[in-house]
Amino acid sequence: MRFASTALISACAATLALTSAVRGAAPAPAKLAPTTVIVNAVLVDGLGGGRRAGAVRVSGDRILEVGDLRPAAGEAVVDARGLMLAPGFIDTHSHAGRGLFEHRDALAAVSQGITTIVGGQDGESPWPLADFFVRLQREPPAINVASYVGHGRIRHEVMGDDFRRAATPAEVGRMRSLLEREMRAGALGLSTGLEYDPGIYSAPAEVIELARVAAASGGRYISHVRSEDRHFWEAIDEIITIGREAKLPVQVSHVKLAMHSLWGQADRLLRTLDEARARGIDVTADIYPYLYWQSTLTVLFPARDFENRASAEFAVTEVSTPEGLLLGRFGPEPSYAGKTLAEIAKLRGTDPPATLMDLIREAQAYEKKTGLEYAESVIGTSMSEPDLERLLAWPHANVCTDGELDGPHPRGYGTFPRVLGRYVRERGVVPLEEAVRKMTSLAAHNVGLAGRGEIRPGAYADLVLFDPATVADRATTAHPHARAVGISTVWVNGAVVFEKGAATARRPGRVLRRERSR
Ligand SMILES: [Zn+2]
Repeated sequence: MRFASTALISACAATLALTSAVRGAAPAPAKLAPTTVIVNAVLVDGLGGGRRAGAVRVSGDRILEVGDLRPAAGEAVVDARGLMLAPGFIDTHSHAGRGLFEHRDALAAVSQGITTIVGGQDGESPWPLADFFVRLQREPPAINVASYVGHGRIRHEVMGDDFRRAATPAEVGRMRSLLEREMRAGALGLSTGLEYDPGIYSAPAEVIELARVAAASGGRYISHVRSEDRHFWEAIDEIITIGREAKLPVQVSHVKLAMHSLWGQADRLLRTLDEARARGIDVTADIYPYLYWQSTLTVLFPARDFENRASAEFAVTEVSTPEGLLLGRFGPEPSYAGKTLAEIAKLRGTDPPATLMDLIREAQAYEKKTGLEYAESVIGTSMSEPDLERLLAWPHANVCTDGELDGPHPRGYGTFPRVLGRYVRERGVVPLEEAVRKMTSLAAHNVGLAGRGEIRPGAYADLVLFDPATVADRATTAHPHARAVGISTVWVNGAVVFEKGAATARRPGRVLRRERSR
């Protein structure tokens, strides 16, 4: 590991006159926060502009000045030693909210340069959001947190276990009022997970009606679309239709072509999305830089026909392969964690489709018996690298992790350094400045966050200092929590949360509620 030493910080009094740069008025000497100046940096502004040598002065939680700055007498100084300073990375599709109160240092996130996470994804959200936000304010983490409100969560509130059907108009009415309440609490918009229970049973009209409610509150729509494999094109049509009918920005979550027969069709997808944009529909996407997803075994059966051998055969030949399905967690037999379906099939003396059907049956019986949810998880290899690279390069696609703070998928620790290392430095998929834009200002734009994702006077001082020559992911499926290298220092709201390869004890993270106007 190589970390530039940057901690040349001397804690001293503020240089008071400096705030005039922001306020454009005479200095007001009283009550000014101490300033820190980060010097000898190569600045990348997050807007896609070219890199330039410079310095950034931070006052309290904000960036005060940017440019050719000299430290004032007694001012705290950080010597960036020629490393690159960018806006802190914004993770627009995160599951890090799950363990956040147990891992308030959010090491998985800050160690890869993430300063803001956006949760409430795939139709699932903390409930009610107002309580979650209050708790975050009482027990703040190291990172900023924003959230969508989940359609599945609302549907569960209204329909309970009787969800395998279309909702009645009265039920949709109740969903509308719960959604309005969550939007008032500050949700960024509505999220759906239409490949999951209970969202998969919703009629398209139900989703459109709820998206209209989100639009009326100035919110947006973000979706794990109804299919990422068998019915992919219809699913893309559905999200475009939602954008058109409900008149709000729509974002395709973790965009991918996750079936062998879809490989090579990234250009067709981008053409479809660009045509929709040309018709005035604000459709965007986020993406993570791996060829394998993490989900449940049941998601491999969109018709939920777990006893249908033909469906199981399709899943292990078209969607993935027996070698490409790696169990992350399996409650009934914990020793299966880390084994592939091919290995488990061999152990049990059954063929892969039969084994897949057996595992689901056993997991469901286990869930019933124990009352636990999610008895199993799987990492499935389903994507091709040429498609990933085409989608990553799309000007409207921003980077996300889809990761957890202590999950089995390496994306939780590796995503942003992997993009900067493998896809920028090694494979040249996009220039570094463009990659940083996808991690910062574009990400903020695609989820409706203001004041973050840019290096400019007045923006929040969420910053990451990294070495573009060495930054790289180290996490793998065998070692999903291996720390990335090349991330030197990370600031959230002006406070250092990560340096010298470790989280600091600071917890400056804030709740980011939806801005009133979009
Ligand atoms: Zn998802």
